[in-house]
Amino acid sequence: MDSADQFRFTHLPHPAPVPAARRTELLANPGFGRVFTDHMAVVRYKEGQGWHNPTIEARAPIPLDPAAAVLHYAQEIFEGMKAYRAADGGVVMFRPDANARRFYQSAERMAMAPVPDALFLAAVRELVRVDRDWIPTGENASLYLRPFMIASEAFLGVKPSSEYLFIVIASPVGSYFSGGAVSVWVSEDYTRAAVGGTGAAKCGGNYAASLLAQREAKTHGCDQVLFLDAVEHRWVEEMGGMNIFFVLDDGSLVTPPLGGTILPGITRDAILTLARDRGLTVREEPYSIDQCYADAASGRLKEAFACGTAAVVTPIGRLCGHRGEVVIGSGNGADPITESLRGALIGIQRGQNPDPYGWVQHVA
Ligand SMILES: *Cc1c(COP(=O)(O)O)cnc(C)c1O
Repeated sequence: MDSADQFRFTHLPHPAPVPAARRTELLANPGFGRVFTDHMAVVRYKEGQGWHNPTIEARAPIPLDPAAAVLHYAQEIFEGMKAYRAADGGVVMFRPDANARRFYQSAERMAMAPVPDALFLAAVRELVRVDRDWIPTGENASLYLRPFMIASEAFLGVKPSSEYLFIVIASPVGSYFSGGAVSVWVSEDYTRAAVGGTGAAKCGGNYAASLLAQREAKTHGCDQVLFLDAVEHRWVEEMGGMNIFFVLDDGSLVTPPLGGTILPGITRDAILTLARDRGLTVREEPYSIDQCYADAASGRLKEAFACGTAAVVTPIGRLCGHRGEVVIGSGNGADPITESLRGALIGIQRGQNPDPYGWVQHVA
């Protein structure tokens, strides 16, 4: 079961889609994650039967037994990716194959039935095609795709579910942050992931565990939370839903190494490649929070940024925490290396710059 042909989607068009005039209104200022398209892709899995009944259908609430495993034991994974309208009127996506691979690996970690890459890609592509009129055209706008999988077997015993639902929904979005630099709260009391845990899997449970720390950040007037390692509470790991980079005064970049406790971001990987190809020295190595504060104070730390599909590349202007507050770089986001990497990435993602890496794929 690995060829796209075996996953032919049945189309059940929405009987009453949003009228075009209303859609235009919604697309003018969609915000992030509040507006949804007319359809969704749904594929079911049952042990012994495998993946079956792929459909594109009207987006609607999903019937779920109250004993469904996901509601009790949190067997859930997801992905986040974007579709853009290209200059030629077509639709492009950024490295969708990498999201398919990661979704597969997240499923394996959570003892769920992995979705074959070809099925994952077909579901995303079919949904984008059906709802292509929902792709906004604004400068920072895109159609955010949210593939996810839940354990749907009705059984309260603790074991991997024997049934799953794989669903893709889509949401037209503007910028994740409202602009400028973000401030970051260093969490000393909570950790996100431990060695042997699920930090490298994109599962909802990781987010559930991060929300209290995120709330603490807000309480202290910060936009985002930065997590340290779970053993020594000393090494910078990542933010709640984004990876982190530091730019030093010799022009080099530092980012914490992957190793099971950090989500392997596709944006992170792209930034590593773009930076190296621009002749920058890039080090994937541990960076302690003490060093970070010392470097910010001495001026050795010039810039810092968060990166991920939703946030793209967002400058970090300020660190706050139990050890005090420091400003990074300009403090207002006008940071040259961050800006240039952001521009290079966005140019490729939107099909405006040449793509020597083969990252961009036409999907419609
Ligand atoms: C999704 C995610 C990222 C960013 O990954 P991208 O592939 O760049 O979108 C980073 N950290 C966490 C915890 C995430 O869930």
